[in-house]
Amino acid sequence: MARYRGSVCRLCRRENLKLFLKGDRCYSDKCAFDRRGYPPGQHGQRRRGKISDYGIQLREKQKVKRMYGLSEKQFRLFFERADRQKGITGTNLLVFLERRLDNVVYRLGFVNSRTQGRHYVRHNHFLVNDQRVNIPSFQVKIGDVIQIREKSIKIQAINEALGAVVRRGLPQWLELDKDNMKGIVKNFPIREDLTMPMQEQLIVELYSK
Ligand code: SF4
Repeated sequence: MARYRGSVCRLCRRENLKLFLKGDRCYSDKCAFDRRGYPPGQHGQRRRGKISDYGIQLREKQKVKRMYGLSEKQFRLFFERADRQKGITGTNLLVFLERRLDNVVYRLGFVNSRTQGRHYVRHNHFLVNDQRVNIPSFQVKIGDVIQIREKSIKIQAINEALGAVVRRGLPQWLELDKDNMKGIVKNFPIREDLTMPMQEQLIVELYSK
């Protein structure tokens, strides 16, 4: 599957928002967005004209898609699934994205970024209800217990990431047992749990054209 291989900091600058794609670096003074908070490229610092409604919707979709590190195809499939489900499509979409296993291990502080989460999930470092799960898009359910595999507990990056969870904060829908390196899904996330600026309605409008 096509994967973005360029500089991820460019994506933050493009979307005019810190997307927190690089773990610790995002909180340091090396953050490219903090240092150069204008769009990338030769004409990045030029004043731009009025952006169209389509442009606004497109940027919002790109922003959320990049935040969760998905390809267009993967993102579209989540949207279609959200659209088929009862309730508000935009909220459904965000909840599906949050329930991805790579995001959950990131939220629990087992990894530093969703990209790292995907990598570690693929390499079988986590158990869900004592079963190995290596599918990053796996959707967690209420009551699921996510645990680091015993042989992976000593991985330095995981221990360092756990130290940083205090800075990011733990969402109320998850519970973390740091001593036993396990997390529990207490509830499904609700819209208020998602504090990053996202206007999901614009994504719905874009895909409904
Ligand atoms: Fe974005 Fe993090 Fe890079 Fe800053 S360091 S520009 S927040 S990915």
